[in-house]
Amino acid sequence: MKLDHPDTHLLVLTGAGISAESGIPTFRGSGGVWEGESVARVASLSGFVHDPARVWRFYSERRARGRDAKPNAGHLALAKLEEKLGDRMLIATQNIDGLHQSAGNTRVVELHGNLWKSRCSRCEREPIDDAAEYSPEKLPACGKCHARGEFALLRPHIVWFGEKLSSGVLDRVEAFIRRARKHRFVFLAVGTSGLVAPSSQFVDVARAAGAETWLVNQDRPANAEAFAHVVLGPSGELLPALLQR
Ligand SMILES: [Zn+2]
Repeated sequence: MKLDHPDTHLLVLTGAGISAESGIPTFRGSGGVWEGESVARVASLSGFVHDPARVWRFYSERRARGRDAKPNAGHLALAKLEEKLGDRMLIATQNIDGLHQSAGNTRVVELHGNLWKSRCSRCEREPIDDAAEYSPEKLPACGKCHARGEFALLRPHIVWFGEKLSSGVLDRVEAFIRRARKHRFVFLAVGTSGLVAPSSQFVDVARAAGAETWLVNQDRPANAEAFAHVVLGPSGELLPALLQR
């Protein structure tokens, strides 16, 4: 991939495929059902309003299962690369598992939120670190709202279906692209079909900004022709060698 040129800027988009090898089950692409639970009920604001206990049971279960997941060789190869590239590298991830940070990456934009954080369903407080599992009898309430004599539940810090990505998240990616386009620019998508907006537009925006475009994915996705280079296979096996070149 030739990343040793001192002018190279690298934007990486990662999706569920990179975490599959760490035992994190993929969420979409399962017919709208995740372990017997309807995604519409547990991954939407209307589902939360209707039945917060059910939603918290679902995410508590995901926290319980995700607790022991470890970054795999693909994550670690990207972490090693950030040590070399520093500010010239940014990861934008669709994953909520936090495994890039566990691997050592610090320049990570989480497009869809983070499983290990919660935020208030009412006020604008910053998301809080929260790995707790909640039982239906004891759902978490916002302390800040409570201090004002109001009651509001905490909710998972996840971008649900029908919700917009926070503007700051996309601003960081766009700012990186604006900077990268003045240099040698490489765009690499890993483990994502890239078909879900706005991530699906990243490759087009990057290509228009002069990027060399790469895709590493288990299967050939419908938008494969948007990439100049397509490498098929498990990212944990492919990335360590690919990123060294
Ligand atoms: Zn609040």
